[in-house]
Amino acid sequence: MAAMVSCADCRMTVPQSDSFFGTDGSVLCARCHSMREAHVQVERGRAAAYEQASGGGLIMQAIQMSAADDQALRGHGELAAIRRPAPAAAQQACQRCRAVVATSDITYSLAGESLCPTCSAAYDATADRQRLEGSLWRGLALGFFLSVVGVIIVHAMQRPDGEKRGALVGCGVAFVFYLFLLRVLAAGMH
Ligand SMILES: [Zn+2]
Ligand SMILES: [Zn+2]
Repeated sequence: MAAMVSCADCRMTVPQSDSFFGTDGSVLCARCHSMREAHVQVERGRAAAYEQASGGGLIMQAIQMSAADDQALRGHGELAAIRRPAPAAAQQACQRCRAVVATSDITYSLAGESLCPTCSAAYDATADRQRLEGSLWRGLALGFFLSVVGVIIVHAMQRPDGEKRGALVGCGVAFVFYLFLLRVLAAGMH
């Protein structure tokens, strides 16, 4: 009889000959292995976009990085949606209102939460993305007007990453702006 192993991710028992090793050395079934690979692929895409963005100016950089984050978030969400095993009865519970509806009627939020048609109609993808990503512009404004204090505030309040990044960029832009202003003023005194 073939040796059987248990998948570290889904706990399914598979023949050892059909198993894979994850990068962390865990034993995985073929499905979970390719799923992990796909998530890694999404992160690679994000890293490549970051790399590309690093050539541009500060603000363009922040905007491009934010776009790359959006895409990665969507990629992970789609994978999470695929990952959910379809129940035998082809019915699924909505994670918002707990109503059980046909799996074919289920849609997914950006965070991978299952939604029934009613909740899906009420679902605001833009607001959800804001919640997950934070507002780059709010961060920028905080960093620009409050400088280092703004950066400290977004970190202390544990705001989403997009906002922290925005604050850092805003703080940098303000610094350059004030430096420029000082120069203009100094030149005006002569
Ligand atoms: Zn598995
Ligand atoms: Zn629902």
